[in-house]
Amino acid sequence: ALIVRHRMRSSGCWARAMAILREFEEKCGTPIGKLRQVADAMTVEMHAGLASEGGSKLKMLISYVDNLPTGDEKGLFYALDLGGTNFRVLRVQLGGKVGHVLKQEFVEVSIPPHLMVGTSDALFDFIAAELAKFVSTEGQGFHLSPGRQRELGFTFSFPVNQLSIASGTLMKWTKGFSIDDTIGKDVVAELTKAMERQGLDMRVAALVNDTIGTLAGGIYYDNDVIAAVILGTGTNAAYVERAHAIPKWHGLLPKSGEMVINMEWGNFRSSHLPLTDYDHALDAESLNPGEQIFEKIISGMYLGDIVRRVLCRMAEEAAFFGDTIPPKLKVPFILSFILKYQWDAAVALTVGDNMSGLSMQDGWALISNSRTPDMSAMHHDTSFDLRVVGKKLKDILGISNTSLKTRKVVVELCDIVATRGARLSAAGILGILKKLGRDTVKEGEKQRTVIAMDGGLFEHYTEFRMCLESTLKEELLGEEVSESIVIMLSNDGSGIGAALLAASHSQYLEVEES
Ligand code: BGC
Ligand code: MG
Repeated sequence: ALIVRHRMRSSGCWARAMAILREFEEKCGTPIGKLRQVADAMTVEMHAGLASEGGSKLKMLISYVDNLPTGDEKGLFYALDLGGTNFRVLRVQLGGKVGHVLKQEFVEVSIPPHLMVGTSDALFDFIAAELAKFVSTEGQGFHLSPGRQRELGFTFSFPVNQLSIASGTLMKWTKGFSIDDTIGKDVVAELTKAMERQGLDMRVAALVNDTIGTLAGGIYYDNDVIAAVILGTGTNAAYVERAHAIPKWHGLLPKSGEMVINMEWGNFRSSHLPLTDYDHALDAESLNPGEQIFEKIISGMYLGDIVRRVLCRMAEEAAFFGDTIPPKLKVPFILSFILKYQWDAAVALTVGDNMSGLSMQDGWALISNSRTPDMSAMHHDTSFDLRVVGKKLKDILGISNTSLKTRKVVVELCDIVATRGARLSAAGILGILKKLGRDTVKEGEKQRTVIAMDGGLFEHYTEFRMCLESTLKEELLGEEVSESIVIMLSNDGSGIGAALLAASHSQYLEVEES
C-alpha cells in the first residue's frame, strides 16, 4: 500500500511538474505574428529614439563614427576591449590595404569579480596595469613611427553618452557591473588618468561600443556590412543610419552623409514581449531592475538563470527532484551560460551547499569566474540516455540518479528558453532591416545586406544560432529577400574594429595627408 501511495503521489507530482512546464512554454510562445509585432515595435522605437533625446527606451546613441574603415589605415595601433567578464588587449600592425593586417597579438585577462562592483579607480588601474604589461612585450613585426605616441581604440561595451569620437560619459552599467562612482564620468578621462598613474604614454583615439567595433571590423572585410549584432553576456545592435534621418542630431552633417548608431537594444521593451513570472522575478532581483528587459530574456548572462528558476519552482511545488529541494538550485546564475570558453575547457563549478542564500550579485561574481556553458551543453546532448545532462545535474546541482524522463524535461526547458531568445533576436534584426527598407526586394535591385554578428552566445550555442537564422530567413523574410541577407560571424571583430577606428582618428592623420 505504501508503494502504491508513493507511486500515486509521484505521478501526481509529475503531472504538476508538467503543468508548470507547459504553462511556461505557453507564456514563452513566439508565434510568427508576435515576432512581427515585436519587429514593428522595434522599428517604431528606433524612429522615436532618433527623433529626440530620451524619446524612447531605445537610446539610439550617436557614435560619432561617420566614416567606416576604408582600408587605408596604416601603422601600429592598440585596442582594449572591456565588456563582459573578460577583457582583451590587442595590438595590430595595419598594412594600408583592405583587409591587410600585417600582424596582430592579443591577451585576454579575466576581471576579478570584486573589481566589477568596487571603485572606478580600482577597475581602471587594473586595466591600465594589464595594458602597460602588454605594451612592454611589444616585439618584432610592430613598428611605431619615430616620435609618435602610441594610440588606442577603446571598446567599452556599456551605454555611453558619446561627446566626441574619443570621449563619452557612462550612462549606466549592465551585465553584472555596478560601480557607482563611474556613472556620469568620461570613461576616456578615467582610463587616461589610470594610464598616467602607470606611467604609460598612450592616447585614446577612439571610444567605441563593441557593436560599433564589430561593425567597423566587419566592413573592413566586407563592404556590404550594414549592421552588427552582439549576442554574448549582454546583447546590442548598431547600424549605419543616414544622417538626415536623425532629427535629434544638431551637429554638422557629416560629409559621408552617414552616422553609425548604437541602438542599445538590450533596453528595448514592448508589451508584445512574451514575459513570464520568472522573468519578472529575475528582473526584480537583478542589479538593474526595470532595465535591459530585452537583454534579460535574450542574452547569455540570463538564459541559464531562467532555466534555473523554472526548475526551482518545479522542485518546490512538484518535488521534481525528489522530496528535498537541491540547495544548489537556489544559487543565482549557477546554470548560467558563460561564453568565453569552449565547452571542453569548461571547469565544473564547485559551489558549497551552504551558498543557497547568495544574492544575484554574489552569485554572478562566483559563476562568472568559472566558465561553464552548462545550459548549452545540456541542450546539445545527443546521447540516447542524455548522459551530459545527467552529469551536469549531478556535478553542478548535486542531483544524482536522475531518470531519463527528468533529463528530457531539462533539455526541453533549455529549448524553450533558448528558442524564445533566438526568435526574439531574429525579430529585432527584422526591425532594423525594416527601418532601412531592406526587408523587401526592390525591383531590379540586387543589393546584398550583411549583418556582422559576435558574442559567445551566437558563436558557441549552435541551437540558438540555427534557430535565429532559420526564424529570420525562413519565417520572417521569405525566400527572395533571404537570398540577399548574410548573417556573418565576425569573430572578435570588435578589437580590430576599434584599432581601425583609432587609426582613422589618429592625431597624426592630417599631418600625414598634407
Ligand atoms: C550593453 C551594450 C553592449 C552589449 C553587448 C549591453 O549590456 O549595454 O553597450 O553592446 O551589452 O556587449
Ligand atoms: Mg565582447
